[in-house]
Amino acid sequence: MDVGNAVVPRVVVVGSVNMDLVFRTPRMPAPGETITGDGFQQVPGGKGANQAVAAARQGAAVGFVGMIGNDSFGQMALESLGREGIATTHMTTDLSAASGVAGIFVDDHGENSIVLAPGANAVLSEAHVEAAAAAIGGADYLICQLESPIASVARAIAIAREHGVRVVFNPAPAAQLPDGLLASVDYLILNETEATQLTGLAVLDRASAAEAAAALLARGAGAVLLTMGAGGVLVATTGHERFVPAVKVKAVDTTAAGDTFVGALTVAIGRGLDLDDAVTQAQHAAALTVTRMGAQTSIPTRAELHEFIQ
Ligand code: ADP
Repeated sequence: MDVGNAVVPRVVVVGSVNMDLVFRTPRMPAPGETITGDGFQQVPGGKGANQAVAAARQGAAVGFVGMIGNDSFGQMALESLGREGIATTHMTTDLSAASGVAGIFVDDHGENSIVLAPGANAVLSEAHVEAAAAAIGGADYLICQLESPIASVARAIAIAREHGVRVVFNPAPAAQLPDGLLASVDYLILNETEATQLTGLAVLDRASAAEAAAALLARGAGAVLLTMGAGGVLVATTGHERFVPAVKVKAVDTTAAGDTFVGALTVAIGRGLDLDDAVTQAQHAAALTVTRMGAQTSIPTRAELHEFIQ
């Protein structure tokens, strides 16, 4: 497979940083109950940070615009982004909020229950994004999600648009979007749940996915990539729609699969691949992620992806 040219795409991610506190438990506790768990892990996560790590591991030059609290989780998240070579100049510390934290229970069946406390992510303001305007405007690609305030995300997208920066938008978790926002989005990447919530159409299969993708294209998105886990990806551009099956692997933990897809797709396009080849490459990267435990721990490097594809 063509793996693209040697260009190093410049990517800015405006998004969330969380610390995932993962408890293994034989079963979910009932209200009021205390049970003894089987283990605990602390793993850096957050959709923004995961997507930044995925892009960096695929070889992009990545900068991050986000917010942490003045606490040890924030410091650890910052250090983990730094270890990936991600520029953190536009990471701000809020002195009054806690860093974002996700409390995750995973039971013996692999089912999970999550409580997300967004903390500092919720106070990433339009002014903070504005302060990073030069970095956003100087990038090739902007990646953003919805674990940050929507007005700040919309501001980042507007800055990117003004400077001809391509916009990759992962509207997760789904929320009502400002009118006209999708017209500034080049690549809209979302799963079935998000597509259902954004369009009001129940996305259950390929036919309903195609209908939802058409509705999102009609709202102005340049390309819609509707991911359906092991069920493959629907790729839709105006007048064109095709279905790309997922790569068959033994799934161990699907955490960060969608985030890996977003980061890897962006870098593949940045390296000059056409959309279909870029999707295939992103599918392989995401498939590798599902074969491993954890969020950022499971995201593959470019070398691992090449080895897997060959
Ligand atoms: P999200 O994590 O946002 O819900 P999906 O579950 O659709 O997103 O997964 C994103 C991508 O990860 C899919 O398009 C696919 O490439 C890959 N993926 C997810 N689950 C599997 C699986 N069980 N087998 C192979 N690939 C998978």
